[in-house]
Amino acid sequence: MPLAPCPSKRKAMDRQELQKLRDLPIEGVAERLGLRVSHHKALCPFHDDHHASLSFKVSKNTYRCFVCGASGGTIDLVMRYLRKDFREACRWLADENNIILTEYKPQTSDISHQTSFDASRYSRFFERPWLNDEARRFLFEERRLDERVIRWCRLTSWKDRQGVPWLQIPYYDREGRLVGVQNRNLVRGALPRFRFPQGAECGIYNLPVLNLLKPGEQLFITEGCSDCWAMLSAGHKAIAIPSATLLTKKDAEQLEIINSKLSISFHMYPDRDEPGERLFLQLQKVLPSLVHHQLPVGCKDFSELYRLRIKH
Ligand SMILES: [Zn+2]
Repeated sequence: MPLAPCPSKRKAMDRQELQKLRDLPIEGVAERLGLRVSHHKALCPFHDDHHASLSFKVSKNTYRCFVCGASGGTIDLVMRYLRKDFREACRWLADENNIILTEYKPQTSDISHQTSFDASRYSRFFERPWLNDEARRFLFEERRLDERVIRWCRLTSWKDRQGVPWLQIPYYDREGRLVGVQNRNLVRGALPRFRFPQGAECGIYNLPVLNLLKPGEQLFITEGCSDCWAMLSAGHKAIAIPSATLLTKKDAEQLEIINSKLSISFHMYPDRDEPGERLFLQLQKVLPSLVHHQLPVGCKDFSELYRLRIKH
């Protein structure tokens, strides 16, 4: 299936975007890869290690193993660990952290110079949302989500010129203005998993739900929009943070404002992994009263718990 961009159209990667990937916290990247980091050290995955020889230098955002000599930054770590080439490693990192790489942005000349998000180009897609078979299968058969939630979220779908089906997810601000669009690849396991139009600001997801909250009500915070849909389908009110590896300053500020303006309580089921717990701790700094709910053993995220619950 022709998912990767045609090699002849390959462009050099944007320097600023590469810097963003290099600036991702190295320990967060290591944890995302599955390493257990403790006191800036981990077992080295590149030799048979029993003594946590791999250490992280947070100030330089690098890693080094004192036994086998493996060393480098975030991109090197992904390349070596997942045995990917440079470009594939960059794609993986970008994909895991909702960072937009230029190679996936639209390449037509009339919009290539435009950097801000043109909501008028996209808003009509969400006026009459339409779900193709792949989207219906994903949302209703695989994820078992509530149709009313999907209508509330105005999810729609489309196919690109190569016939790849995409789920199109609109991001609105609290006033209901379209501020960003996220495209999710509906082919299982295909990369890129996500695509964003130029200038899309996909920060906190489902902000319009704040207008429905009554004083004293609970608001759940999830990692990513799929968990948010599951949370909404389970009857909770919820917003989503786009990535566990990096809580942006802007999103943190927005949460602080929400906390100061609304008298509600904040709740979270962190994913059962290191990045999930790390996100919880980051959020707790901004929202001191954030309540930690524990997922049962064997459930890696709330979507799984939701699916287990509705089966019974
Ligand atoms: Zn080593």
